[in-house]
Amino acid sequence: MSNDRKFRNPVSAPPGADAGLWTALVREAEVRGFRVAIKPTGGSLDAFTDYQANEVVLAAHLRGVAAMTRLAHEVGHVHLHAAGSLRGPFSVFEDSHGLREVEAEIFAYVVLVHHGISNDESLGFIAQWAWYLRPDAPEKYADEASARVTDAAKQVVASTRAYMRQHSTAVSSDPTREAAPPFDQPGPGW
Ligand SMILES: [Zn+2]
Repeated sequence: MSNDRKFRNPVSAPPGADAGLWTALVREAEVRGFRVAIKPTGGSLDAFTDYQANEVVLAAHLRGVAAMTRLAHEVGHVHLHAAGSLRGPFSVFEDSHGLREVEAEIFAYVVLVHHGISNDESLGFIAQWAWYLRPDAPEKYADEASARVTDAAKQVVASTRAYMRQHSTAVSSDPTREAAPPFDQPGPGW
């Protein structure tokens, strides 16, 4: 997992997405053995991670902050939930799809905020899942998920910053503030 490893998957940033951070995040998937592909997914599916094919798929219709958020979320799954990740395939929470979604979204939120991109839709998504899964104590659920993703998020913030510095890119402008559809998979209310 060398930083000097050849970057094999230079998938172009969608319109409105920050190209430097986009490339750095694509690389974060690749250093974990996952390629990123942009494909028409049809319907309302925005993104998913295929753990068998080692592929992150993003919908071709995504733009701007929504695209950045979905990519960061899937990179979260790659770093947190795939084989060889910090916590192994689905860790001890393999029966909890909901918890994985909360973890990936908190990961995405933290990584993007550190790059100056704030997405309130993420907070809504996290709160929605937390209420759904732990209606008695949603704040406790969110706290637990946050604690579990902190190390991985910090690592990716540092790594993406280093990559962008090395390649002289920074999140320069205010990317298009489009609404980010907060679901990559069916959530509460399916
Ligand atoms: Zn997800």
